[in-house]
Amino acid sequence: MFTVLILGGTSEAYQLAEALHGSGDSGGCGRRVISSLAGRTAQPRLPAGEYRIGGFGGSDGLVAYLHHESIDAVVDATHPFAGQMRWHAATACATAGVPLLRLERPAWQAGPGDRWSEVDDWPTAVAQLAAAPPARRVLLALGRQELAPFAALDGVHFLIRSVDPPDPMPPFASAELLLARGPFTLADERELLVRHAIDTIVCKNSGGDATDAKLAAARELGVRVLMRRRPPQPDSPTVATVAAAAQWIAARAGN
Ligand code: NAP
Repeated sequence: MFTVLILGGTSEAYQLAEALHGSGDSGGCGRRVISSLAGRTAQPRLPAGEYRIGGFGGSDGLVAYLHHESIDAVVDATHPFAGQMRWHAATACATAGVPLLRLERPAWQAGPGDRWSEVDDWPTAVAQLAAAPPARRVLLALGRQELAPFAALDGVHFLIRSVDPPDPMPPFASAELLLARGPFTLADERELLVRHAIDTIVCKNSGGDATDAKLAAARELGVRVLMRRRPPQPDSPTVATVAAAAQWIAARAGN
């Protein structure tokens, strides 16, 4: 049976598992589909069909897994800011001779009216928040494990939005935690920015439509955005849509 491994943790990965799963057997059309989650969130949404949770143990561990499960194709649908798994997948698939496809949603692009500054790392974002005119009230919409560099800033009030609580919470002088999971609407984001008098948003260029309403609200309200660029990625074949990834698999599986 043709066996596909989806490296997941994104809405696209869930959608692909759903699309491939079919209704009857383990993968539909005589395919076996295994989704892999890193296991970072306490109560992850579970994908359709078979799944496994936890790291593989680097690229060597992934090579061993590919052999053990007789994987025929891998779709790396990890998040645009998951900086490591893509390299491990590229190395492991090259070593094991398994075809690899990267599924990555397009990045957001600044348009007329946007007040974006793009940065490559968080220390640069921190320096820009402190530069004149300094930010005073900032929405941090980024991973709960990425907050620490911002805690060093004095004179700024942070509204921290994350899915799970930071543990431990970095020692911010002034911060408020908002636990929420997207998607967020434009009306909600507008109301949030106004209610908290936010002057700057710090976020990552994740792309997609689940969390882009904050950017439209920022444009409307003239709020500045510090946007982190995506990390580099291996030179793997890449598609932007779930449908294109499903076609790639169908072509390899011969159906
Ligand atoms: P990462 O830096 O690329 O990966 C770190 C390590 O976590 C990898 O070396 C691997 O461990 C393990 N890992 C990552 N994705 C995995 C997967 N799908 N299945 C099994 N192991 C995986 O990734 P990250 O930034 O820590 O993100 C972890 C997960 O959260 C990813 O699945 C990603 O799609 C999802 N996610 C990340 C972000 C983000 O902003 N970074 C946002 C939303 C969702 P081993 O070396 O032991 O194999």
